[in-house]
Amino acid sequence: MNAFIDKMRRRAGRYLDVRSTPVRPSRGIFSLSFDDIPVSAWTEAGPILAEHGIKATYYVCGGLSGGENMGLPQFEPEHLEALRDAGHEVGCHTFEHVSTLRIDAAELDASLARNAAWVSDVLDGYEMRTFAYPFGDCALGSKEVIDRRFLCGRGVRDGVNAGTADRNLLQAVGLESRRLPGYDLEGLMAETAANSGWLIAYGHDVMDGPTPYGCTPDDLDRIIRLAKAADLEILPVAAAWERATA
Ligand SMILES: [Zn+2]
Repeated sequence: MNAFIDKMRRRAGRYLDVRSTPVRPSRGIFSLSFDDIPVSAWTEAGPILAEHGIKATYYVCGGLSGGENMGLPQFEPEHLEALRDAGHEVGCHTFEHVSTLRIDAAELDASLARNAAWVSDVLDGYEMRTFAYPFGDCALGSKEVIDRRFLCGRGVRDGVNAGTADRNLLQAVGLESRRLPGYDLEGLMAETAANSGWLIAYGHDVMDGPTPYGCTPDDLDRIIRLAKAADLEILPVAAAWERATA
């Protein structure tokens, strides 16, 4: 029964309170994001991003710092500083990594405030401008909270953002070993280029023998090469948002 209610609430979050925003960059865009930030999302992925000369977005939960999540060690504050210093975007993923289905709007807002204060403290006043929903769960009442605090919010539903998009629940494809075999990545990149859209990918760990939610270094390298081959501009989420909605 609870699973059924969650499903209905996810559906309400998806179809109601849609704030459509035109997404029309002059050239297709690709954004890479990493959620939670397992250590390998920086130590393994960082050098690959640097090699390609591109910037990504890291969605952080202050409460996961120095801890463990899904059996993997999570980032330390030094990792966050290093990736910020390298020019990557830091975005918000709640403080506790909590599903918006489990808390009300006021509790979500308080969690976002805690995360903002934590990040500002660690990164000398840094202000996060974009959000990603933990587990991709978007409860209907959370959209308004996200809309007040951020340029946009990202979910985990497959698809290219093109024409118009719900700014509080952008679509994204999973850079995840459980999902990658099911995607036609070349096709998605071609569609993004042809429609002047915005394709966002999200991942977690990056290592050989990744979790179902992560990918290998080769997978990451390949998706970047495909984006470049399709002549997509590669930007972090906030910069992409500004370019796509200008
Ligand atoms: Zn997460």
